[in-house]
Amino acid sequence: MIKKVFLIFGLVLFSIECTSQQSQPSSGKETINVSPKLVVGMVVDQMRYDYLTRFYDRFGEGGFKRMLREGFNCKNNHFNYVPTYTGPGHASVFTGTTPQNHGIISNYWYDKFSKKGVYCASDPSVRAVGSDSELERMSPHRMKTTTVADQNRLHTQLKGKSIGIAIKDRGAILPAGHSANGAYWFRGKDEGKWITSTYYRNDLPNWVQQFNDSDKAESYLKVWNTLYDINSYIESGSDQNNFEKGFTGKETATFPYDLGALKDQNEGYDIIKGSAYGNSLTADFAIAAIDGEALGKDDITDFLTVSFSSTDYVGHNFGVNSKEIQDTYLRLDKDLERLFNALDSKIGKGNYTVFLTADHGAVHVPSYLQTVKIPSGYFKKDTLSTKVMAFVKERFKVDGLIEKIDNDQVFFAYDVLVKNNVSAQDLQKTIAHYILQYDQIDKVFTREQLLTGTYTEGIAALVQKGFNQKRSGDVVFVLNPATILYSRTGSTHGSGLNYDTHAPLLFMGKGIKQGSTTEKTTIPDIAPTISALLGITFPNGATGDVLPFVLK
Ligand SMILES: [Zn+2]
Repeated sequence: MIKKVFLIFGLVLFSIECTSQQSQPSSGKETINVSPKLVVGMVVDQMRYDYLTRFYDRFGEGGFKRMLREGFNCKNNHFNYVPTYTGPGHASVFTGTTPQNHGIISNYWYDKFSKKGVYCASDPSVRAVGSDSELERMSPHRMKTTTVADQNRLHTQLKGKSIGIAIKDRGAILPAGHSANGAYWFRGKDEGKWITSTYYRNDLPNWVQQFNDSDKAESYLKVWNTLYDINSYIESGSDQNNFEKGFTGKETATFPYDLGALKDQNEGYDIIKGSAYGNSLTADFAIAAIDGEALGKDDITDFLTVSFSSTDYVGHNFGVNSKEIQDTYLRLDKDLERLFNALDSKIGKGNYTVFLTADHGAVHVPSYLQTVKIPSGYFKKDTLSTKVMAFVKERFKVDGLIEKIDNDQVFFAYDVLVKNNVSAQDLQKTIAHYILQYDQIDKVFTREQLLTGTYTEGIAALVQKGFNQKRSGDVVFVLNPATILYSRTGSTHGSGLNYDTHAPLLFMGKGIKQGSTTEKTTIPDIAPTISALLGITFPNGATGDVLPFVLK
């Protein structure tokens, strides 16, 4: 009886709700998409998620905390592929897919078609603009799919601009996409200038020239000391320890660093990249770009991608637990505040949308982990390569079956296999079995395995999503946790473990809800989410999903 009453009461409520919905007249002006004047897509190179929580109490109100307060925080956001490197990271954030589809399988990889090593952003068919260097020939041509910025260009009949900025060329070039108006990166050495390539244009725009002619870069060749009293930096390890590399010409890796005095022994202007000031210089240049390119000035959505590279250089040099890393993030927080304030005044609060993520995380320095009994180590690639080559030669009585061992992958010389009637599957299985005996190797996968099934969880799934049928090798191996191919000082990254995969993902501004989630999200979800916000076609290879809880 009681149940019946509730049922009837429920039906009444339901019918009232339906009536009220039906009674709302259609305005004929439903919003089917949100068009911010500007989208700013930011990547913090090597930012672990826990930097947000670890340094939270030390941040000001206008940077990271503003994003957390006004925007949406995806607390359980991960890379869903390996290797977690800079090139693949930037490509995956903006294409909404993984190396399996966008083809940026590493920063540098062995190209089995040309039989030589290639760099993810190198392009011999173009030339540097703003520098005479032969080393700055860059374009996005190795990236096979479009970015969300490309789709915005197509959607707006090329009226919506796309500009990419980062100290690292690949951090500027890959996000801005194939159809970008410009991508600018920092040429250090003896030049200290922002440059581009003939892929985009044949001269530097006036605003870039003016920026280069100003003393901005020069002004950062100063003493780098901690922003606050170093004794208050209780969220990081001691400044003097055995786990940091430091700069050439300074005996200890301890504050303060006189960048002007150390410049000549540390590749000239490159020393700015390796300090917290590289991010400040990036913010300065991004703000100059907003004016120079008139971004967000009309109602057609423009795209600005900014990658803060210095966090990565500092992490590699000093490690994730260092005072230097803490100071770099406290200063980045100030740079973000400055950038947001500039966006407020130039574009207007509520007229722009920003997101912030990373291209990968980083591991605690293994030599430090060993002091606290956490399993970790240093991988010696050459030893493994020599052993595998010798084993294969002995077993098959044929020379040269292996062409290359690179990026934790074994590449076969197929012409040699064919000539000697060696089955590729036999060779894969034999090598996989042998490699797994090696004590620093945790897992091995063959090309055959990666092409026949679909892994849905664990490292296997990440290996598969990082595996590109055309570009990847024939046997892929995975190192033990916290085991790295790196020096005994400083941190690195590249694995499918949580210290490398767990990255921040914050959204803020027009069309974005306020809140947070611990639901799992992945890096390829970012571009579809921004595409849905803008009502544009997803990047052509996108495999991620829209995050509905982020959007209003
Ligand atoms: Zn990186």
